[in-house]
Amino acid sequence: MRYQGWLTWVTLGLAVAFIPMAVDSKPAPINFSSQLTRLIEQIDPNFKTTTQQTQKREISSQDTPIEAIVQNRQLARTYYYHFDTDVSAGAKIVFENAISTYNQTGIVKLLPGSGTGRQNSITFFVYSKRMPSEGNTTMIESGHGGPQIIQQTGWNAYTANHARAGLNVYYPAAAIRKSVAIHELGHALGLDHSRYRNSVMYPIDQGNTNLSAGDIGALKTIYGSGETKK
Ligand SMILES: [Zn+2]
Repeated sequence: MRYQGWLTWVTLGLAVAFIPMAVDSKPAPINFSSQLTRLIEQIDPNFKTTTQQTQKREISSQDTPIEAIVQNRQLARTYYYHFDTDVSAGAKIVFENAISTYNQTGIVKLLPGSGTGRQNSITFFVYSKRMPSEGNTTMIESGHGGPQIIQQTGWNAYTANHARAGLNVYYPAAAIRKSVAIHELGHALGLDHSRYRNSVMYPIDQGNTNLSAGDIGALKTIYGSGETKK
């Protein structure tokens, strides 16, 4: 079979963002690593490994970490995005604000449309998930998102990211926020959780709507400077 060499590999990475149930404009300091590890373990036992790798890597860098499955990929900087049909007008505005923030960096270029299978794409979606109470530390999952790497080998070789970013509209006040959309879109583009509160990739919503220098540094690592890379 001459087509056997043309394999397509798909790798999927999804992460979730959390926001405390109690709204507090000035959150109390927390022990980041232990709380994050505990929260992630409740949702996805496999995620703990990623968290540990993240902390190890950050010893020498304040850059926002990059999702493992995106590291060392040759990804184009252009993405085509669309909204699932059940995304409300309000959620759409929030997503569009987040899109605009990333476009303003000049590093990535997010355009409305579907693109082709070999081009990068992002699907924006909403879902409804009620979180169980855990004693007095109920945490809300406000969204989730991540990259999905499509790797085609052979004469027609290419690598593309068919990513997803979603908001948990069971908790509209917590989830339909620009800071959450920026976080989930960050995952879609390949950013992992940061331990720094000024990063939009801090795993507990801080209301950040501006990318930190570390966030921008990680985008440059994945997509190049944006000025020369087509
Ligand atoms: Zn997250």
